[in-house]
Amino acid sequence: MLPARQSAPYATPSEAPKRVTILGATGSVGQATFRVLAAHPGHFACEAITAQENVDRLIDLARQYRPKLAVIGNTAHYAVLREGLAGTGIEAAAGAEAICEAAANPTDIVMAAIVGLAGLRAVMCAVEAGHTIALANKETLVGAGDLMMQACKTHGATLIPVDSEHSAIFQVLEPHNREQVEKITLTASGGPFLNLPAEMLANVTPKQAVAHPNWSMGAKISVDSATMMNKGLELIEAHHLFALLPDKLDVVVHPESIIHSLVHYADGSVLAQLGMPDMATPVACALAWPRRIALEIPRLDLAAIGALHFSAPDEQRFPCLRLARDALQQGGSMPLVLNAANEVAVARFLAGEIGFTAIAETVESAMSRHKSCKIAGLEAVFALDSEIRQTS
Ligand code: NDP
Ligand code: MG
Repeated sequence: MLPARQSAPYATPSEAPKRVTILGATGSVGQATFRVLAAHPGHFACEAITAQENVDRLIDLARQYRPKLAVIGNTAHYAVLREGLAGTGIEAAAGAEAICEAAANPTDIVMAAIVGLAGLRAVMCAVEAGHTIALANKETLVGAGDLMMQACKTHGATLIPVDSEHSAIFQVLEPHNREQVEKITLTASGGPFLNLPAEMLANVTPKQAVAHPNWSMGAKISVDSATMMNKGLELIEAHHLFALLPDKLDVVVHPESIIHSLVHYADGSVLAQLGMPDMATPVACALAWPRRIALEIPRLDLAAIGALHFSAPDEQRFPCLRLARDALQQGGSMPLVLNAANEVAVARFLAGEIGFTAIAETVESAMSRHKSCKIAGLEAVFALDSEIRQTS
């Protein structure tokens, strides 16, 4: 459930700071979130932070931003965390359950920035607590979108998109003109291999794949951008967030990543949101919503950029986009299967076990062996996810 556009204005600086819980605090979106918090110490108070492995960074962040609670997912790091926070008054905890508790504890907004379906339990705990959730963790909506959106309604939770394309749509989608929306276009940078000849794709390395031309991101989403699976996941994400049928969702390649997405209306108007490619902007937009807060980041200078370019995506060279579209059309359990096989394949590619083009092959093979069905509940999601991971 998206927030009502007429909602009460967010607290002025004279009121109590907005409490922010950050799931996946040590990652790339986590880093963008701390840049926003650091720019507005009077507006925001860090409530709780979580990570999985990177306990040293978690300790540093806790000491700097002073949350009430810091949680490390891997229980093997608990002693290090407890020792690192000794004398600070910050509570230390460990394990997947503790991350879920951190997500559900009282707060004003939860930044969901864990990578992969691994974030689903924590996001659902935040939803069930009725929280406002700034959602970056797109795999949760891809794998369990119907359940999540239904749970948001049941528990009065609110999702505010953080993914830059969805943040753009959220900002220009007029709630009172929903019937007049003809379609939505997501922009795609095309990733680092946009112009690489098809025959060279099989031999690209993980290092080349994670070197995104415009955005600095975590390894998994960087590979997703290189295969264009990221745009496919984003189509499914948009379908759930904005309740739009697949035929109303379009993709255009725009290598400069300046126009972040567009909404086309029935009168021929097309509304877009523009900005420099910096995740601090959509993070600030989500955290401060419905207000805007200042950020000291480079400003958009269209005259200096000179030209913006657009082209249709090439689904022959980037079959992941076609596979995601197919999964979206089939609906039911198929997007979960697409996501699980992709997570496995991307991890294998990053570990040097398979080549780049084998990512799409792995996903296609998993999808071809699966017959889409309705997923009954969260435990069924986890059961199918683990089955696909074992068989992919
Ligand atoms: P990163 O890999 O940089 O960070 C992932 C975070 O999740 C880290 O804090 C990591 O902890 C934590 N984490 C990893 N595995 C687990 C687990 N099993 N349980 C709990 N926590 C875990 O990812 P990004 O920040 O790049 O991406 C996060 C999400 O946001 C993804 O879903 C991505 O698609 C989405 N997104 C990212 C954008 C970006 O610019 N990076 C843009 C738009 C969306 P640790 O460091 O300890 O391992
Ligand atoms: Mg995006």
